[in-house]
Amino acid sequence: MAFLIDATTCGNCGSCKSECPNEAILEKGEVHWIDPEKCVDCGSCKEACPCDAISEA
Ligand code: SF4
Ligand code: SF4
Repeated sequence: MAFLIDATTCGNCGSCKSECPNEAILEKGEVHWIDPEKCVDCGSCKEACPCDAISEA
């Protein structure tokens, strides 16, 4: 299981990326993306997102 970013809601602010303890979040074009292989399900990115774009898969 991993957390997911909804690309239609992501405002590309980068707040999630700076909160991730495992460098699982990458910028991909105009949105951010979570690498499911690296996500350790801590939930920090979800709390940091101002757009409520992140949810648990
Ligand atoms: S849940 Fe934690 S480990 Fe997974 S992407 Fe978000 S901040 Fe990174
Ligand atoms: S914090 Fe939310 S809006 Fe900002 S880049 Fe991450 S997913 Fe997108």
